[in-house]
Amino acid sequence: MNNLEYNATQQSLAQRRIAHLDMDAFYASVELLRYPELRGQPVVIGGRSEHQPIVQADGRRQFYRLRNYAGRGVITTATYEARAFGVSSGMGVMKAAQLVPDAVLLPVDFDAYRRYSRQFKAIVATIAPQIENTGIDEIYIDLSSLPDETVVLAQRIKQAIRDTTGLTCSVGVAPNKLLAKIGSDLNKPDGVTILDMSDIPIRIWPLPVQKINGIGPKATKKLAALGIQTIAELARADPGLLQLHFGRSYAAWLCDVSHGIDQRPVETCSEPKSISRETTFERDLHPRLDRTVLSEIFTTLCEQVAADLQRKGYIGRTIGVKLRFEDFRTVTRDFTLTAHTANAIQIRRAARECLRRIPLTKKLRLLGVRVSSLLPASAAVDQGHAIQQELPLFF
Ligand SMILES: [Mg+2]
Repeated sequence: MNNLEYNATQQSLAQRRIAHLDMDAFYASVELLRYPELRGQPVVIGGRSEHQPIVQADGRRQFYRLRNYAGRGVITTATYEARAFGVSSGMGVMKAAQLVPDAVLLPVDFDAYRRYSRQFKAIVATIAPQIENTGIDEIYIDLSSLPDETVVLAQRIKQAIRDTTGLTCSVGVAPNKLLAKIGSDLNKPDGVTILDMSDIPIRIWPLPVQKINGIGPKATKKLAALGIQTIAELARADPGLLQLHFGRSYAAWLCDVSHGIDQRPVETCSEPKSISRETTFERDLHPRLDRTVLSEIFTTLCEQVAADLQRKGYIGRTIGVKLRFEDFRTVTRDFTLTAHTANAIQIRRAARECLRRIPLTKKLRLLGVRVSSLLPASAAVDQGHAIQQELPLFF
């Protein structure tokens, strides 16, 4: 890379707009949707099913209070009203009961939280599709290629989440993931924080080092022992001293992050590497005697894989088969086409070619068909990738 290219890269990195979106007190907020009468009260999530509210004769719910709790449970989330008393995630329920005996205790319901998680991520994707999943209640979003103003986008995303789920979130937008993550925590709940590199001295440096994602309790303690408590002190620290105590690569990273430098891309991930279908037979099938049944199953698998590809919007170039024999020996073979396809007949022809290369001497218990070397069907058209039109007949 020459100097000019280097500068161009640095510039485009500085111009990225990365959002970190963090749902506010997520589990507790989902519970408040269910029990709106608890709004404004200290509520702690972390109970078991026996702490489920009881519906009384008059239809009102009776909630379990912390003061009645005995056990070794741990708090997963607390409402902001409970946090005001010093309650925090990971704290023992008994300890919290001493701090706020009148707080309501609710059982955890992960199914509900996962449902809301899928829902808020899906709605964000309709506005800004470049999403990296980092947890049940948080995502990074790359807003760089969107035309709208940052504030407008952040407000639109927050409003869409509120409209569809009734939940609030906090958003930080910055030129990188590091600063975006710090930003989403600066104005909680229901906040928007926009940071750029020039904000670092005033807004980032005064913060304690543990606000940096990647500086855990151990490193925090070690840094404190060196007299380093704020990010500003870390930025001023002698690199040699850091290297001595933390090793070269972590010390270099500490130095970078204290100056707000982070070049990690938003990993829009979850692009599948392959799509496959397989089936284990109810009884082991003989390659010759059960040929008709096997052939039907084989065709169905190819059709299913093709349908999966089409539904998910992919085309693939490498077709593979997997066989498991009655003695559990497993064999795979691949065949790479000259161009991508999502067509059942082409997939079947290639898969058939793979099968021909496996000596079929024993009964079979499993058959599978896989398509890999995937491309999004839309990207393939844009990039002018050839899509498989015709293939010589093998059989
Ligand atoms: Mg959260």
